[in-house]
Amino acid sequence: MKTLLIHPRKGLYTLTACNHCGYQFDCQNCDCKLTTYRSGKDYLELVCHQCQSYYNYPNICPKCGHQNIISKFGGIDDLAEKIGKDLKQNVIRLDQLNTEAKIKKAINTETGAFLTTKSLIRLSITINLGK
Ligand SMILES: [Zn+2]
Ligand SMILES: [Zn+2]
Repeated sequence: MKTLLIHPRKGLYTLTACNHCGYQFDCQNCDCKLTTYRSGKDYLELVCHQCQSYYNYPNICPKCGHQNIISKFGGIDDLAEKIGKDLKQNVIRLDQLNTEAKIKKAINTETGAFLTTKSLIRLSITINLGK
């Protein structure tokens, strides 16, 4: 079975904040919201999509000092993990394939849940998912 899911948000979580005072973690260079990514099995990091800065995942709030940091609003990585773990589906990440040829090949040869952000729309690929 082939399913196509389009998720508009990149990363694991799109908002990281202090659960105590509400402080939100922004990029120190350009004030953009930071997106949480998994950078290892049990390791998270924050990434700025605007200037590509990387930050260690915070464990303490710089404003109030509480160790109560939360990340919420799941992105495509969170969705991929849930489909893989909870639904035991094969997940094919079309947004991680960088050429139209690779995307078309994956669609034709793989089965499972195809996930993408908006990259497919940009490439204006006509997808025939078949039966
Ligand atoms: Zn705080
Ligand atoms: Zn930035």
